[in-house]
This record gives sequence, structure tokens and C-alpha cells, in this order.
Amino acid sequence: MSQYYIWTIGCQMNKAESERLGSYLEQLGYQATDTAEAADIVVLNSCVVRQSAENRIINKINSLKSLRRAHPGTTLAVTGCLVNSEVDQLKKSFPYVDYFFKPGDYPPWLETPEAALVLPRQPSPGTFVPIIQGCNNFCTYCIVPYRRGRERSRPVSEIVCEVRELVRRGVKEVTLLGQNVDSYGRDLADKPDLADLLSELNAIDGLARIRFLTNHPKDMSAKLIEAIANLDKACKQISLPVQSGSDDILKAMRRGYTVAQYRRLVNTIRDKIPGVALSTDVIVGFPSENEQQFQQTVDLLSELRFDTVHVAAYSPRPGTIAARKFEDNIPLAEKRRRLNIIEQLQEGIAAEINARLLGKTVEILVEGKVKDKWQGRTRSGKLVFCNNSADCLGQLLNIKIERTSPWSLQGYSIK
Ligand code: SF4
Repeated sequence: MSQYYIWTIGCQMNKAESERLGSYLEQLGYQATDTAEAADIVVLNSCVVRQSAENRIINKINSLKSLRRAHPGTTLAVTGCLVNSEVDQLKKSFPYVDYFFKPGDYPPWLETPEAALVLPRQPSPGTFVPIIQGCNNFCTYCIVPYRRGRERSRPVSEIVCEVRELVRRGVKEVTLLGQNVDSYGRDLADKPDLADLLSELNAIDGLARIRFLTNHPKDMSAKLIEAIANLDKACKQISLPVQSGSDDILKAMRRGYTVAQYRRLVNTIRDKIPGVALSTDVIVGFPSENEQQFQQTVDLLSELRFDTVHVAAYSPRPGTIAARKFEDNIPLAEKRRRLNIIEQLQEGIAAEINARLLGKTVEILVEGKVKDKWQGRTRSGKLVFCNNSADCLGQLLNIKIERTSPWSLQGYSIK
């Protein structure tokens, strides 16, 4: 039997697309293998969000040269964010690669499988479903719009049909993915939005939970907040990247909102959706960020007290507006210092938020086992470990929490 090998780096979108690509190849009769050397088709799924990721994928493509020499019959292909409009340039740089194809597409040299839906045969209980590709926002530090292109939404009917089939195959939870899920549907003829899509998915029997990411603070609508509050399957968890607590830095980033607008949005969400878990992203050391501007970010995080904060030190991404216009003038040691301050602050906040769950009972969807413990997530996205001798994969369990930390919870299952 012919075999395929897919190598993936990057975000959940890339992982979801690789999973689909694997299913596509399996429907054509290929079987997965763990090594490129054993494969008839090798696909590298690339990420170029950071320069370090781009370096990794370039090294990986370079390593295909020896594979090509040893196995001249193997088909070599590259997809993901590296593959932009300059495919001819890529072909020139890497002549031993047979095909470059756009993220989310399927291998153009193969026939289309007969089945209309290309889905994993045995999907995990919680599965990612891409709903919109690309981004129209052009934040100054971000390469995504240049590489993933402009926004393209999948029709509601196609997504509903896919989720129904996933549920038939055992899925209990779906996470809808997009660089900006709040733009969902704007490019479609009848202009549905994410709230409309959530309502349709909420009606699917057997589906227990719906998540989605990532939201954009300038685009999140009152209608969506109402939908999350009212739909029983919509998880009360929202990812809302703020990036900075300084209006000047937000302007330089071209984020399209002020700190006051962001604060109002968070307050509205918390009013309408009691108990909602909020996560955010922050970049420290953006060009010319001074101590006062950094302190404004620290103050905002202390005030709003997020469940989770993902913090990154700024690094210029060639090809972006920020890399062209601004000098990367914050020393690396200073960026690290700022990053550590935020990580320590957040560790304390998350420890306090999670400690409130001690002795409480939470529902988790069991998604796998780590060493001898089952692991799953609550509706609010908290990671929970528990002991249970039975096979609980894919089950919704009630867990009594007996230990908490900033990063996870532990407990035992109760009837
Ligand atoms: S909204 Fe997100 S994906 Fe789009 S440009 Fe800004 S950071 Fe990049």
C-alpha cells in the first residue's frame, strides 16, 4: 500500500488542515507512516508567523534534497503559509520539490476522493473545524494577511454538514477556527455571521460543546455576545487578544481599538456572560515601547485579571509594515525582563482564579491520557487531570476538584 508522511508546524489551523489532508490521502488509499524515508508522498505544512518558524521550514525543505537523491520516486510537496503568491520564486529556490500548494487546498496533482467530505475516520472527541481562512486586518507586526491572503469563509451549510458527520463519528466538541472568527461570513452572499453559525450548530443532536477562536476586539459584536450567553452548547470561553495596554502602541500596531474600548468590551462580556473565562495575547518590547507604556499593559492585566495570558517578545517579521517602518530598538534582555514580569503577574492571577474551583464539581470532556491520568477540559477551557481505571476517552465526566495550580486542576470523577 502507498504511504504518506505529513510534517506540520504552526497553529491549530495548520494542525487541522494536516489532519484533513491525511484523511484525504487515506480516502485515496494511502496509509500514514512515521518517517519521510518510507513514504511515497511527503508533505511539509509550513508556518512563517515568526522568522524562527520560517527558518525551521526552510531547513526542513533543504533536508528534502538528500531524500530526493535517495528516493527519486517520492513525491515532495510543501503547503501552509510559506506558499504565497510567489510560487515561481519558491520553485526556483527549491527545484527538487515537486509541488507547492496553498494552505487549506488539497494536492492538486491527485484525483478528488469520491466522498464529498474529507474528514478523519476516527476524529478525536474534540476536533478543530476551520471556518474562515486569511485576514483583512494588516496589524503592522503580522505576516498572516500576506501569506494566508484575504478572508474566505466556508458556507454555513458546508460547516453544518461537516459537523453533523463528525458527531456521527464520535465527536462531542468542535473548535471553530479562524484568524479572525468575527469576520466570518462577510464575504458570503447572504452575509451570515458567527452568531448565526453558532445557532445552526447548537441544534445538532449529539454535539455537546462549541468553542471558537480567535476573536478581534474591534469586530466582536453584541449579537455574538448574546448568542454565547444564550446557546447552551457555546462554551463560555473567549480568546480576545489585547496586545498592549498603551493607546500609542495599539495605534502603532494598527489594532483598531483603544484601551478604553477594549475595557468596555470586557465589561460587557462579563455582564452578559457570568462566569466567562477570558484569555488574551500580549506583545512586549514593540518598537519604542517605553517603561510607562509597558507599565500600562501590566496595569491593564492586573485590572482585568484574565484566566490565561499568552505573552510574546516582539521580533520583527520581514515583510510586515512594522519591520519596514520601525526600528527594533528594545534590547532583547529588556524584552525578556518585561516578558518575565507579565508571566509572574499572570501566574499569581491564574493561581487565585483556579483556587476558587477547589472543592467544586466541573464537567470535562476526556480527550486523552498522560502517563496514568486522563485529561480533559472544562467548558471554560481549564485543563483537568483525573484518575479513573475505566476507559473514559470521549466521555463527559463530572470531576470533583481536589488540587489546583496556575496551569491545571486535579480531581476525581463522581457520578
Ligand atoms: S487580526 Fe490577527 S491575523 Fe489578522 S493581521 Fe491582526 S494579528 Fe494578524
